[in-house]
Amino acid sequence: MGTIYRAYCEKCDRGTTARADWKGFAGCVTSYDGTGGGTLHTGYWLAVLTDGGDIVPLPHPIEDSTLRQLGYKWKEVAHRGRLLGITNVVCLSCGTLNEARRITVSGDYGCLTGLLGGAVCFLLLKTFTGMAFPLVLLTSYLVLFSPWVVVPLWLRWRYNERQASLALRNCTKCGSTKFVPLSRATKAIHKCPRCGELSMRYSIAGRS
Ligand SMILES: [Zn+2]
Ligand SMILES: [Zn+2]
Repeated sequence: MGTIYRAYCEKCDRGTTARADWKGFAGCVTSYDGTGGGTLHTGYWLAVLTDGGDIVPLPHPIEDSTLRQLGYKWKEVAHRGRLLGITNVVCLSCGTLNEARRITVSGDYGCLTGLLGGAVCFLLLKTFTGMAFPLVLLTSYLVLFSPWVVVPLWLRWRYNERQASLALRNCTKCGSTKFVPLSRATKAIHKCPRCGELSMRYSIAGRS
């Protein structure tokens, strides 16, 4: 599930019909009927860095079939540091949307490992140590979520050169280094990258 945001410039988009950039999502449910214009973007999506060096989006909700068509498997691409999580970020200087890419694992990665690890940890600590119950619970929780926290960190460390080459440093348009993700861009008015006016608003339009 991804959140869909609508970008709307009061100067450029007035009276137009909304269009989607379809980057990272193949369909969406929106309460917004499209009148009034603007562009629909997703906040976050997955992509695979192919062996040929291309970054191919895995649009939600057809990530699975797209990955299979490319001839890859989830665990395999994750272990090889080729699964990327991409966040759409707004440049605070010029308003251009940029892509912040990080090596990641998919949502269901290590689900069973995490659950088993958490349960075993809980039993061991409770049976063999005199640890206070809240502390036992907290430690087990940390182990439970470790696959999604520790593994991505380890992957980014292991493939640090690749991560460095993928990372977003400067805005592709103006070179600025200050960005805000779409999820937080809804709180302020931004510069429109087309007309340059302070007239761009982001709002939540639905789910993909
Ligand atoms: Zn910029
Ligand atoms: Zn504009």
